[in-house]
Amino acid sequence: MQYFSTRDPGRTHGVPLSECILSGAAPDGGLYLPETVPPLPPGWGAEAALVPIATRGLAPYFAGDPLSAELPAIADDALNFNIPLTRLADKLHVLELFHGPTAAFKDVGARFLAACMQRISAADRRRTVLVATSGDTGGAVAAAFYKRQGFDVIILFPEGRVSPLQERQLTCWGENVRSFAVQGNFDDCQRLVKEAFANRDLCEELGLTSANSINIGRLLPQIVYYLQAALSLAEAGGTPPGFIIPSGNLGNATACVVARLMGARIGPVILACNANDTVPEYFATGQWRPRASIATLANAMDVGDPSNMERLQSLYSGDEELRAELSAVQATDAEIRATIRDSYQRWGRAWCPHTATGLYAHKELSESQKAERPWVVVATAHAAKFGDIVEPLLPGPVELPASLAQLLGRATRVESLGAHAEEFFSAIN
Ligand SMILES: *Cc1c(COP(=O)(O)O)cnc(C)c1O
Repeated sequence: MQYFSTRDPGRTHGVPLSECILSGAAPDGGLYLPETVPPLPPGWGAEAALVPIATRGLAPYFAGDPLSAELPAIADDALNFNIPLTRLADKLHVLELFHGPTAAFKDVGARFLAACMQRISAADRRRTVLVATSGDTGGAVAAAFYKRQGFDVIILFPEGRVSPLQERQLTCWGENVRSFAVQGNFDDCQRLVKEAFANRDLCEELGLTSANSINIGRLLPQIVYYLQAALSLAEAGGTPPGFIIPSGNLGNATACVVARLMGARIGPVILACNANDTVPEYFATGQWRPRASIATLANAMDVGDPSNMERLQSLYSGDEELRAELSAVQATDAEIRATIRDSYQRWGRAWCPHTATGLYAHKELSESQKAERPWVVVATAHAAKFGDIVEPLLPGPVELPASLAQLLGRATRVESLGAHAEEFFSAIN
């Protein structure tokens, strides 16, 4: 399998998987996609557990690459936590992606990426993983690479725009991990990362590599839980389930779309968004107008210029097809709060503000839409990570999962940074 940049429509420069994983983005600034979306293998459906689904389902993406023989070990190493599909009500399920070390779905991609990179990277070359985060990515990447031989990690996050618990997760590491609080928003952080990758000397010197959701090594494992959820809800002759995905940079949604294109039984895919309305506006009007992000309660989705849009456009034949195949629903902060409160009253469980946008989108479906098929709302983070928002809406505190409780005891260290490339380069060089 060869990979091509989204900005190389003539397909002049094919790249092997390992190289895509190490370089992150393509040299022309595009994002890598496989030359074709491979169909599910013959006899698909016998596997039920995550690791065998990953090993068989992802095999075509690894075909011909030196990493191919390592795929079972990578899957085993990375996908070592539970991803339960919980039934909340009749025809309403929640795919709980938050049982990893940092309690957000980013753990899936970050752990898989780290497992791949470690097996690719030459022992004599030190590498620096550079990551911009709107909250959850940085913690997951830090956890996945912490103390990993041959790797340093640099995290950029927007100062004051992450939850207190997220900030601890970004700053509690030390050793091979450095964290910078950037005076700006997530888009500024992403811009600094892009500028660093455009600087050849810096790339060479630090062995820069990306761990953002643009890295294909993060996208691939996210396909796996959609394959699994689709299998576990498949009834003979039944209507394929719809998926509702809390979305920011559109990486998780892209993985779902790829699973559907592979042939998984997946019905409608709905992007649940917060008040950042670049994506909802595109689906409503056809206009793609990236803009600055605004701060919302679902901060990991505060993205005004989602980079994976380029992948979605490439996966379909054009805007018309893309707009027919997906849709978007938007939740305001007030609707997020109301959904957290109402969901707790109805089902006795606390959900994070991101997951709440998905539950809101489900509530907004018509009664006939709700009845015609099972729906899966993707739960992207543990509610306790956003206790400052969630707890005032509930009768009592949200219990911390053990992994998070452990992080709270650690010392933190963070460096402050203006949103300027020169300042950033001199800080890390
Ligand atoms: C990153 C994140 C999202 C958005 O995912 P994308 O792949 O960027 O669309 C949603 N919820 C949580 C909790 C996240 O951390």
